[in-house]
Amino acid sequence: ATPTALLVGTGRGAQLGILIKGPQVLESTRRVDTIVLDKTGTVTTGRMSLVQAVPASGLEAAELLRFAGAAEAGSEHPIAKSIVTGARERVGTLPAAESFASADGLGVQAVVDGRLVAVGRPRWLTEQWGIVFTPDLEAALAAGEDRGETPVAVAWDGVARGILTVADAVKDTSAAAIAEFRRLGLTPVLLTGDNDTVARNVGTLVGIDDVRAGVLPAEKAEVIRALQAEGRVVAMVGDGVNDAVALATADLGIAMGTGTDVAIEASDLTLIRSDLVAAADAIRLSRRTLATIK
Ligand code: ADP
Ligand code: MG
Repeated sequence: ATPTALLVGTGRGAQLGILIKGPQVLESTRRVDTIVLDKTGTVTTGRMSLVQAVPASGLEAAELLRFAGAAEAGSEHPIAKSIVTGARERVGTLPAAESFASADGLGVQAVVDGRLVAVGRPRWLTEQWGIVFTPDLEAALAAGEDRGETPVAVAWDGVARGILTVADAVKDTSAAAIAEFRRLGLTPVLLTGDNDTVARNVGTLVGIDDVRAGVLPAEKAEVIRALQAEGRVVAMVGDGVNDAVALATADLGIAMGTGTDVAIEASDLTLIRSDLVAAADAIRLSRRTLATIK
């Protein structure tokens, strides 16, 4: 390999807004045949907004939002930010929370006004906290999923207090980028901790039929390894703390520049422009650079 050609490639990469960790990365881009895409923040904007707040009977929506917003204030997750923003808009200043703890890809817990509050994936609240949802809350949850929103459950003192739904939008460049991946011979796979209905909805919008939903952060790397065990050479694009191990496991890890430092650290390529078209550009550019060298 002539170092000059590599430098040209990485230099052009920098112009396109792609940071390449080292020349060895180019070889991986030639071999990849599968591209695994994290949903939230990668295929979608990750700028979620609060859509609905459905309180349990006898409770005011403002009260539900006050507790949920206060508990989520310590979390960096896009869902948490949307709940905090939505709650502040509707109820003003939120009380301070104590003893905040978060469970990656599941939710948070904190003490607010002396009550132990849990906010997160409905199934987590049931499995971890024994929370039972009344039929009206179950209905609110199902209706949110049917509309393509992500339902988040809120409980305190062991009782379900309501369902919030949040939603974000697919980035307008995602569908075109995924079509471009296919032209480059890559099979796209959508990977997310979110629920199956929401994930399939996004998959349909962007043209991905292989959707792996409900995957916990620790399991994301296992999905990559399983694909590799089938003989596939896997690129993974992600942005979150949750994606770091999967990014490091992939044959080619690609981080969104707007992503967390951990994700960027774990990756081979970083996209300054946080859209997937830059990932397609990066793969095309690397392949062309290799062709120049040979
Ligand atoms: P993705 O894989 O799409 O980036 P995550 O793994 O970050 O999603 O989150 C998976 C799911 O866990 C979310 O869809 C949500 O249901 C739940 N969740 C994670 N963090 C929080 C939080 N801070 N508050 C509420 N729900 C959360
Ligand atoms: Mg993400």
